[in-house]
Amino acid sequence: MKETEKQDILRNIPAVDKILQWPELQKFLEQLEQHYVTAIIRNKIDEFRERILAGEDYDLDFLKNSILCEFKDLVRPYFRRAVNALGIVLHTGLGRAPFSHGIADILHNASVGYSQLQIDEEGRRTDRYRKISQILSLITGAEAGIIVNNNAGATLLILNALAKNKEVIVSRGQLIEIGGAFRIPEIMEQSGAILHEVGTTNRTHLENYEDAINENTGALLRVHQSNYRIIGFTKEISLGELVELGKKYNLPVIDDLGSGALIDLSKHNLPKEPTVQDSIRTGADIVCFSGDKLIGGPQCGIIIGKEKIINKIKKNPLTRALRCDKLANEALEATLQLFLHKEETLLKNHGVMSILLKPVKDIRRHASRCARKLKKQFREQLEISVQKDVSEIGGGSLSTEQLPTFVVAVKPKTIPAQDLARALRMCNIPVYGRVSEDLILLDFRTVLKDEEKFIIQAFSEILANG
Ligand SMILES: *Cc1c(COP(=O)(O)O)cnc(C)c1O
Repeated sequence: MKETEKQDILRNIPAVDKILQWPELQKFLEQLEQHYVTAIIRNKIDEFRERILAGEDYDLDFLKNSILCEFKDLVRPYFRRAVNALGIVLHTGLGRAPFSHGIADILHNASVGYSQLQIDEEGRRTDRYRKISQILSLITGAEAGIIVNNNAGATLLILNALAKNKEVIVSRGQLIEIGGAFRIPEIMEQSGAILHEVGTTNRTHLENYEDAINENTGALLRVHQSNYRIIGFTKEISLGELVELGKKYNLPVIDDLGSGALIDLSKHNLPKEPTVQDSIRTGADIVCFSGDKLIGGPQCGIIIGKEKIINKIKKNPLTRALRCDKLANEALEATLQLFLHKEETLLKNHGVMSILLKPVKDIRRHASRCARKLKKQFREQLEISVQKDVSEIGGGSLSTEQLPTFVVAVKPKTIPAQDLARALRMCNIPVYGRVSEDLILLDFRTVLKDEEKFIIQAFSEILANG
């Protein structure tokens, strides 16, 4: 842009007073405190001015649009429902596990009133973890349990409570990094424990652990590799062997399972994932896993194991700092209660399990129905087909494995696929799909039963007028 044009635009930016009279803003002015309204307008003007000065090519319509969009966003929730058509079952960006059937009602009831979070029949303050501990014991066979903010917090807390200033022995093949900057060596450092790595990336033997044990060893740690696999010439010792070693030297064995499957997925033709019950049965002293991966509950970190150790953890000051609120407790209890039901009911009602087990022919039927509707409505603008593809589990669980699926492939005729995909992500109910060259792929494994209408609605919002 030429200098004179720039000056022209800058000079013509309307005054805040003038903007406040825009008819489109009146409904916001009726609802919102005026000083917020003017602050937003000023911010947007400043931002616009900077962009123009930086040489970006925008006109005053752009400013108007961005002000109106800002107000629209301000009064609707940003944290709103979205359609996951990415085909990644546990997608951290999309809030990981979709809750199971019936949990929404429980949460609604519990959030509009007070909640029996930490109080007993006598009206006394009680142990907040009592109820969750009972149900975790029943399901997993562990002596006791407790929950904290997330599994990263659980790991930090366990290491701090059991091994501060002491060495914790870990195989080099298990020094993982998970998305969101969770790295075992760094968590270890923050916890005050000292990392003692043994073995090599691909092979670690029992004697590597045994040779590393000394008078300052505090614990033995096993970490689920979660989001990567080492294949080829490899060796890791089994949890059983680690437990034997722990017994021999009187050291606690910590098992960070990551996903924490409560049912054996391999029974259902899904890839094998170690179960929580197996870890407890094998004798791990303390086991931790996420509440919002395969468990399908709210974000939390679940810690179970020997009662003596759980009690020690409860007394640690970090436990208070990492404690979960009523919503997490309520949602987790309801999710865990599902696991007490007959497996048939569980598999049908459990959000994550029902997606993982969705029969391919159902996915195909669902995708085809949506494709037909889209074709009928948007024949002029879109080329639609249904294709075979693969979904991922994600969330660091079984993530090297792929699940068969069907996608609705959408090829926009007039705009680039990238632009249409972006517009879909900005709809009232955003739709997230994969983009592959000139196609948008909507994976129907993760599109829930009643969500097809949101997809149609999103395309209507974008394409209705041409
Ligand atoms: C996912 C994962 C974590 C982190 O769990 P969050 O609940 O996301 O904090 C820790 N350890 C392992 C092995 C994991 O897979």
